[in-house]
Amino acid sequence: MKKCDYCGTEISYHDIYCGEECQDKAAKFYNLRDEYEKLFTFLDAVFVFMIPIGLFIGMFAGNLGDILIVSGLIGLGIMLLILPFPTESMIKKYKIKKAKKLCRYFALILIAVGIIGAVIFSFAT
Ligand SMILES: [Zn+2]
Repeated sequence: MKKCDYCGTEISYHDIYCGEECQDKAAKFYNLRDEYEKLFTFLDAVFVFMIPIGLFIGMFAGNLGDILIVSGLIGLGIMLLILPFPTESMIKKYKIKKAKKLCRYFALILIAVGIIGAVIFSFAT
């Protein structure tokens, strides 16, 4: 059975989306992604790199390393909340609506881990 590319509802074989609403939402999602893809890729790389760099610097300068790790986690989380761009394989597997939701859950987990990390680091120093 074929499913709507946006919401995952079952649809007939010759359709792509279940209705105009899903078609519009999917178009909006792809437009937003096209517009911000470069910024997303750049920020994603910066925030992700801050974590291993923070771990490394943490061996010499604990505080600076902690700040980098926490900023990387929270920065990545905030970015994924604002720009929830799942990977292609996630979109294929879950369809756009659910993949975006999963992306935002992941973002909230990152922010929570970042905040917990900040609290632990501030008690440890
Ligand atoms: Zn739909």
